Amino acid sequence: MVKRIAIFGSTGSIGTQALDVIAAHPDKFSAEILTAHHNHELLIEQALKFNPNCVVIGDDSKYGDVKEALAKTDIKVFAGAKALEEVAAMDCYDMMLAAIVGFAGLKPTLKAIDNGKPIALANKETLVVAGELVMQRAVAKRVPIIPVDSEHSAIFQCLIGEGKNKIEKVILTASGGPFLGRKPNYLVNVKKEHALQHPNWEMGAKISIDSATLMNKGLEMIEAKWLFNLHPDQIQVIIHPQSIIHSMVQFSDGSIKSQMGLPDMKLPIQYALGFPQRLDSNFPRYDFKRPHTLTFEEPDYKTFRNLALAIEALNKGGNWPCILNAANEVAVYAFLRNRIGFLDMTAVVEETLSKIPFIEKPTLEDYFDTDGAARTFTASIIRM
Ligand code: NAD
Ligand code: MG
Repeated sequence: MVKRIAIFGSTGSIGTQALDVIAAHPDKFSAEILTAHHNHELLIEQALKFNPNCVVIGDDSKYGDVKEALAKTDIKVFAGAKALEEVAAMDCYDMMLAAIVGFAGLKPTLKAIDNGKPIALANKETLVVAGELVMQRAVAKRVPIIPVDSEHSAIFQCLIGEGKNKIEKVILTASGGPFLGRKPNYLVNVKKEHALQHPNWEMGAKISIDSATLMNKGLEMIEAKWLFNLHPDQIQVIIHPQSIIHSMVQFSDGSIKSQMGLPDMKLPIQYALGFPQRLDSNFPRYDFKRPHTLTFEEPDYKTFRNLALAIEALNKGGNWPCILNAANEVAVYAFLRNRIGFLDMTAVVEETLSKIPFIEKPTLEDYFDTDGAARTFTASIIRM
């Protein structure tokens, strides 16, 4: 049976790699829904190639162009943020690949869960902001959430067959990003061109900056807490610059399992889409015969303070991760537009955390209000 995939964020780094996986396995997968925010040209190209049931262009002003380009097909065309939720509620697909970046992914993912559709989750911000609520809904609807993030995919794979065996801790590996070993006197001057150059992974702009500041690893700790129902003390981060071990699980007998491979997001994407089956691939293989040293070291929490802030949010809970995420999104886009410096990103996140009121048990409305208030505040201190 062909699994019909809805790719939310099909024009991004994850989305385009997912389409490569689908194209390599036409007997297993089809692309039924494709969505993009601004890049209507790529969306049109993808639609003509994959012939989905429908497409959504987030930017309303591009609706006419997309409609015209697809006029000779029977592909339905929708536009705007509301349309993302409407198509997530449709019946024409079997699994959502949540590959939108940032808070914008939350609403459509919740709709897909309410619609009973399994989720392949790349959009970590969804769990950072509202993990408790998202996981509760998924359990209530018996909807599996299969991680796409490479570390969480690794942990997920390590847990297969372990049943109720107790996890002592999970060990999230981090490459350390392009500025591993650097100190604040260097970081104060780095520019976006430099920060966007990740040593091991090619990714979208936001996650590349998050990897350079180590905020990405902090967000992933929060993501791991909700995905695997962990206590914050059970989540450890270790720097592993070669990105061969994607993460590890240590069990109550002291045994450690890891999942390894070359850094290539197509692998966890294909695993999530095909789960529980492992599909063949021609991705390059890791070669143990080549001299290669795998190394591990403690993160530098003093220099990369975003990681320390995220751990504070992980421990405090409530709406703090939501504030952290919103402030970080605004700060990252300000850095990408050369409005603030690299170290300022941490300063504005910290200030926003100190100003937005804490809510211990937020409702979904509280999360939207918190997100809005935090964004407004962060933008005001950056004077955007
Ligand atoms: P990207 O910027 O390359 O792509 C983002 C996609 O989301 C695009 O299709 C874009 O059109 C869409 N989008 C952006 N803003 C939107 C909005 N407001 N409304 C609707 N759609 C919107 O990002 P990416 O690197 O593919 O990352 C996507 C998600 O996957 C992120 O949450 C990221 O943290 C996660 N992730 C990415 C990687 C990676 O290797 N790229 C690895 C692990 C996790
Ligand atoms: Mg990751």
